[in-house]
Amino acid sequence: MRFEEFDLHDDILEAISYMGFEKASPIQEKAIPLILKNKDLLAFAQTGTGKTAAFILPILDKICSTKNEGKINTIVIVPTRELAIQIDQQIQGFSYFLPVNSIALYGGGDGNGWVRERSALEKGTDIIVATPGKLISHLNSGKLKMDDLQHLVLDEADRMLDMGFYEDIQRIVSYLPKKRQTLLFSATMPPNIKKLSKSILDKPEEIAIELSKPAEGVLQAVYLVHENQKSPLIKYLIDNNTDYKSILIFTSTKLKVGQVVRSLKNNNYKVEGISSDLEQKQREEVLSSFRARNTRVLVATDVLSRGIDIKDISLIVNYDVPGDAEDYVHRVGRTARAESEGVALTLVNEPELYKLKKIESLIGSEIMRIPLPASVGEQADFKNQHEQKPRTFRKSKGQSKNFRKKNK
Ligand code: ADP
Ligand code: MG
Repeated sequence: MRFEEFDLHDDILEAISYMGFEKASPIQEKAIPLILKNKDLLAFAQTGTGKTAAFILPILDKICSTKNEGKINTIVIVPTRELAIQIDQQIQGFSYFLPVNSIALYGGGDGNGWVRERSALEKGTDIIVATPGKLISHLNSGKLKMDDLQHLVLDEADRMLDMGFYEDIQRIVSYLPKKRQTLLFSATMPPNIKKLSKSILDKPEEIAIELSKPAEGVLQAVYLVHENQKSPLIKYLIDNNTDYKSILIFTSTKLKVGQVVRSLKNNNYKVEGISSDLEQKQREEVLSSFRARNTRVLVATDVLSRGIDIKDISLIVNYDVPGDAEDYVHRVGRTARAESEGVALTLVNEPELYKLKKIESLIGSEIMRIPLPASVGEQADFKNQHEQKPRTFRKSKGQSKNFRKKNK
């Protein structure tokens, strides 16, 4: 379905076309008309399916029609600062031709940040995108007028619950008018989401789109390795895939981010690491250098794997297997977003095998095993009962073909 078919203001359609969007994604196709009809919404769709535009576009459209200047119209609550910034930027893009303001509020700033936010809020802003803690401090100060609030959006609600924000969300809601439209977006459907939605949504419509499957177009494969082969294999993959302009390596702990970065730096690779240890400002610098492709290799914890939109990552490497199978889907969701193709490789040692099985049962298919390059050493031979032997590629297309050539 094309965007022109939605009943949206021309200025919004124009911004959409400037952004290069042509057809609505499935979640957008379903969510936009419901949001325009003022329904509460419980929407499940995996990472990378276009949830941001699904709620921003109809909300912008409604703000254009109401014109309640200087009043807070919409609050978007998100789990992380990075996501707050990113959504705020998307809002600015879509509202380029509109008289709509937005502001991102997130922790980690200094006193100046607070003053700047205060004065922006006092001048009036239509949309606030905020992390829960920061929003609560502003609400507590008693100066935010919420009387005219029309929309509350919870983005990455599953992630927020994982991070322990349940009470904070309830607290925020207690400041808001009862009569409002509430939209909850989530990549997964854990039971506590239902509980949350019962308490803050009013007769919601529910949409669920292809949960827990990595986007099509991602070539996924597994290397069975000994732990000490992981580091040489990473170097091999970086060296032998020179046309991959950005490579994102995931590890499950901050400690390992440091180790992998050090080991690569010692070998003169241009690489950066990012984890919650970094100051906000440094995190942004590292991310923007990676986005701009000045840094080719980024090593990250799962902090990055959800929500953050870094386009066109050609290669994702899981240095270890995430314990939470959903995290695998999120990690892999960083590549092949919105139809481009990508490759996701997972390095699995014997103790991690059970985690791999969990992932395979979640995504409903077996991930292909590929043989270890000879230069990295001998193929690990897991005694594990049912483990399949690595086999060579059979059928693949596009980028996967190059990949096969290079990794023979
Ligand atoms: P999600 O929140 O579901 O993880 P995002 O809203 O971050 O996904 O969108 C993922 C990427 O797809 C972004 O780069 C976004 O600009 C792009 N995108 C979203 N909708 C469309 C569309 N209809 N056409 C083309 N690209 C889109
Ligand atoms: Mg999102």
